[in-house]
Amino acid sequence: MGTALLWLRDDLRLHDQPALRAALDRGLRPLPVYIHAPEEEGAWAPGAASLAWRRRSLAALAAELERRGSRLLLLRGPTLDTLQALAARSGAEAVLWTRRYEPAIEQRDAHIKRSLRQAGLHAESFNGALLFEPWELATRQGDPYRVFTPFWKSARAHWREPRTWDAPPQLPSLETLDLPAAEPLDDLLPAPSPAWDTGFWQRFTPGEQGAQAALQRFLDGAVHGYAQGRDFAAETGTSRLSPHLHFGELSVRRAAAAVLAAGDAIAEADRDRFLAELGWREFAHHVLHHYPHTPERNLAPRFDDFPWADPDEALLEAWRHGRTGVPIVDAGMRELWHTGWMHNRVRMVVASWLTKHLRQHWLQGARWFWDTLVDADLANNTQGWQWTAGTGADAAPYFRVFNPVTQARRFDPQGAYIARWVPELAELPLPARFAPWEHPQLAHRLAPAYPCRPQVDLAAGRAAALAAFATLPRGPAA
Ligand SMILES: Cc1cc2nc3c(=O)[nH]c(=O)nc-3n(C[C@H](O)[C@H](O)[C@H](O)COP(=O)(O)OP(=O)(O)OC[C@H]3O[C@@H](n4cnc5c(N)ncnc54)[C@H](O)[C@@H]3O)c2cc1C
Repeated sequence: MGTALLWLRDDLRLHDQPALRAALDRGLRPLPVYIHAPEEEGAWAPGAASLAWRRRSLAALAAELERRGSRLLLLRGPTLDTLQALAARSGAEAVLWTRRYEPAIEQRDAHIKRSLRQAGLHAESFNGALLFEPWELATRQGDPYRVFTPFWKSARAHWREPRTWDAPPQLPSLETLDLPAAEPLDDLLPAPSPAWDTGFWQRFTPGEQGAQAALQRFLDGAVHGYAQGRDFAAETGTSRLSPHLHFGELSVRRAAAAVLAAGDAIAEADRDRFLAELGWREFAHHVLHHYPHTPERNLAPRFDDFPWADPDEALLEAWRHGRTGVPIVDAGMRELWHTGWMHNRVRMVVASWLTKHLRQHWLQGARWFWDTLVDADLANNTQGWQWTAGTGADAAPYFRVFNPVTQARRFDPQGAYIARWVPELAELPLPARFAPWEHPQLAHRLAPAYPCRPQVDLAAGRAAALAAFATLPRGPAA
């Protein structure tokens, strides 16, 4: 039986895994290998929270493979040399993998593919991460989309019923192969010490089984009413599938297929809204592929002259650690720190506060999210930051400045989210909990440990942001 290296990266699953399927269909024994080479990811090497997740996800995948008679080989880069050496030693004739779309990785992988082919190996990549390849959809003029609605309309018009398949119950053994010694997981990705990630695992279980359970919980619960419920920060109103989707523990096709298969059991509005959110993920990858400079630079060149404030370490530190004096912002930043995740509505609020009220460059926020989110994803994070800052594709206009107090009143009406993450405000009754500085005596008595005023006055911050925006030349936002 011939052998194919199954080079695993952000596709840490065995169901609906096109590279694995291809190996089995061709009668090749898959040799699953993960090669750790963060230094090859350019300016966006994975952050600390992402590495903590990957450690657990790899352990879960290794266990799944062993249950099926195979195993996961963990190695260290450089990737190309490692793949070539492994192919030579194991006698593999093919290298198969799922595509990734980060610009530095796309370039590296193209080089790897060419080099492997030149060396006489069969090298092939597959789409296992998206519903549509980023280059598949184009406007009538043949250009990339920069607006979500027509992008998604076109996607729905080209929709193929997402067919998926289960993990094979058994896999060919690797026992007869000559393999190099594997790197111990603890050497490759040591456990965080001290264990700052404990809070992550109270909410999430990395790995394919954890992903499947999260999908099932969503189908049994939050999907019903999702169209409205997704905006309320204190509730589990969304799927919380983002890290599982990022690491490919759950195929996006399976997530889409699951809500479609439920038929009338899920209201049309909820189903369509959820599919559209998966659509935003598709759109983010489309934009990143066509505009690979956007993780660092504005998509809208008009903003290149925007007068951002100079980086202010004191303001930034207070923002990062949830000490801004704005309750909903602080709640979000603390949720992020403790769980590695933040509610989408609150992500927009904290990003707006940073880029508009504080006028700090959006990259400052994108970098912090990159290090602290378990779902840190270059396409989605870039889009989220550029969208909120007003510099991106189909972005919220810069002049639309979120008022964090109004947002809290609307999307955390009982103040429960604030009380959970900023416990020193829990004694403060509503509406003081939304804006303690408006009730100074009460705040002084019932929340003495909380900053007595926001780091900038809300009205003054807003006015300064609008004045800065007014200095830009007129022109299309994007
Ligand atoms: C400033 C900012 C930064 C962000 N950074 C990231 C990031 O690094 N990684 C990330 O996955 N998402 C990011 N998002 C998008 C969004 O906040 C998360 O995808 C969502 O909160 C994940 O929760 P969920 O899985 O419960 O989402 P659900 O509402 O259940 O949505 C289902 C899936 O759709 C996708 N999705 C949902 N909303 C969006 C969106 N706005 N853009 C792109 N995809 C979306 C995600 O894969 C998500 O898991 C960011 C948003 C903002 C405003």
